[in-house]
Amino acid sequence: MSFVLSTIVTLGVITAVFFLIRQSLRRSERLTGTQCPTCGREMDRIHRNVVVKAISSALPMRTLFCRACKKKRYRVKPLRTAALPE
Ligand SMILES: [Zn+2]
Repeated sequence: MSFVLSTIVTLGVITAVFFLIRQSLRRSERLTGTQCPTCGREMDRIHRNVVVKAISSALPMRTLFCRACKKKRYRVKPLRTAALPE
């Protein structure tokens, strides 16, 4: 019985820690920014590939593309989407 209880508590703690980490990542300016770190231009959203879609089930991700640098960048979807241009 105590094994079942400790398993439930452990899974609860792991889930809570996972969501806390997820929230803090989604609040990070550096990980959610839509400006290119190289040239400072606003990047465009492009279609996500299969890998990014799979990761997005745990942590919502966006694929951005800088037209000036011709580079793809991966960003975490911010918590408040209203503040960002779609
Ligand atoms: Zn750029």
